[in-house]
Amino acid sequence: MRQAIVLGAGMVGIGTALHLQQRGWAVTVVDRRGPGQETSYGNAGIIQSEAVSPHAMPRGVRRLLAMATGQTNDVHYHPGALPDHAEPLARYWWHSEPDRHRRISDAYARLIAAATAEHGALMAGCAANGRPVDGLVRREGFRAIFRDPADFDEAVAEVEHHRQRWGVRYATLTPAELARAEPALTQSGVAAIHGAIHWLDPWTLSDPGALVAAYAQSFVKAGGRLVQGDAATLTAGPGDGWSVTTDDGPVEADAAVVALGPWSPALLQPLGYRFPMVRKRGYHQHYSGGGLSLPLLDADFGCVLAPMARGLRITTGAQLTHADAPADPVQLARAEAAARALLDLGDPVNPTPWFGTRPCMPDMLPVIGQAPRHPGLWLHFGHGHQGLTMGPASGRLLAELMSGERPFTDPDAFRPERR
Ligand SMILES: Cc1cc2nc3c(=O)[nH]c(=O)nc-3n(C[C@H](O)[C@H](O)[C@H](O)COP(=O)(O)OP(=O)(O)OC[C@H]3O[C@@H](n4cnc5c(N)ncnc54)[C@H](O)[C@@H]3O)c2cc1C
Repeated sequence: MRQAIVLGAGMVGIGTALHLQQRGWAVTVVDRRGPGQETSYGNAGIIQSEAVSPHAMPRGVRRLLAMATGQTNDVHYHPGALPDHAEPLARYWWHSEPDRHRRISDAYARLIAAATAEHGALMAGCAANGRPVDGLVRREGFRAIFRDPADFDEAVAEVEHHRQRWGVRYATLTPAELARAEPALTQSGVAAIHGAIHWLDPWTLSDPGALVAAYAQSFVKAGGRLVQGDAATLTAGPGDGWSVTTDDGPVEADAAVVALGPWSPALLQPLGYRFPMVRKRGYHQHYSGGGLSLPLLDADFGCVLAPMARGLRITTGAQLTHADAPADPVQLARAEAAARALLDLGDPVNPTPWFGTRPCMPDMLPVIGQAPRHPGLWLHFGHGHQGLTMGPASGRLLAELMSGERPFTDPDAFRPERR
């Protein structure tokens, strides 16, 4: 039986582990924490079947000026940290050129197209193991609101393009229709809204970390091992294999998978690999009020208001800062103020906001494939804004490659050696 070590128990690592297990591998997942306790915990909880086109860097002068002068809330940066981000941002700019972005979207959309089906299969596995996750999932989509008519028209034109090209289903709502769908919205809040979009097919979660934990339980129930340990102890050998030191002692395997999300490039640096990553920090806080039935993306403030088990979770856009900079939740403060005009938000639930990092590659595509100079070392990270969505689908793709099977989709765009 072939053996694999999967480093990282986020959605990407657990998605990989389950697919390897299904293909007959004996798998040990190693994490320094429990499953789904980092980025895969703190997100907006949307399985985004509508996200067929990854977030490009704005190239229009108006948007760039607004970002540079701090007038947008979806991006915030610390000027002193910009040198850290210069190389990945320059590459991100290059890849965001419309023709390149179109080709990237074609590859991205193939993974997104498989996302809900792969989640559905893993959820069915949880149910078969006597731990159904139905209570965590709603299959009714989510909505976005727009105050500015021009922004709304632009967003509708884009989603209509996505419908025609990739079959993304949506409906538009007038303010009155939105108010009927979400009676918790205040009258004055609705009066300021020009229109809304309802993406019909995404699934939304009341606790994304709990879903990863449930998938991990399925994995363990089917014979997988989940142990605590530091991935930095990974070494080549014995023979052609790989080994890692864990709290349960050393683990050796034929293959190792690096699925450490934003921590992946640092682990690979001593092995001679440089993976520039656009590290987009995001924050969240839960609030005791709210009353929304479905998540609401407030496009003007770059935030999502997501009803969750711990309260209404407000997640923020991207902050470019030093990797170890202390929390500076300025975007959260603005998002909270905007949300208070829309809803009776209540009080913050957590003593301090959570923050984590979206692991974005400059070409917006995840890295999926074998390390170019290290046989048996497989790379699986960089899922950016949609790792919760894509983890099981890209886990399937990696497991197929590792197992020598014909992959369900062309892996070329995701190979680690691309530039
Ligand atoms: C605010 C915000 C909102 C988001 N909203 C969405 C959304 O709605 N939908 C969506 O699809 N995506 C969303 N995302 C993106 C998504 O959360 C990430 O892409 C995804 O969680 C990445 O998963 P991962 O498994 O690669 O990383 P992680 O979940 O971070 O997992 C990496 C694991 O590696 C472990 N680890 C790290 N270093 C070591 C070490 N040295 N030794 C052992 N273990 C180690 C960590 O403990 C962790 O468990 C959002 C992200 C943010 C920040």
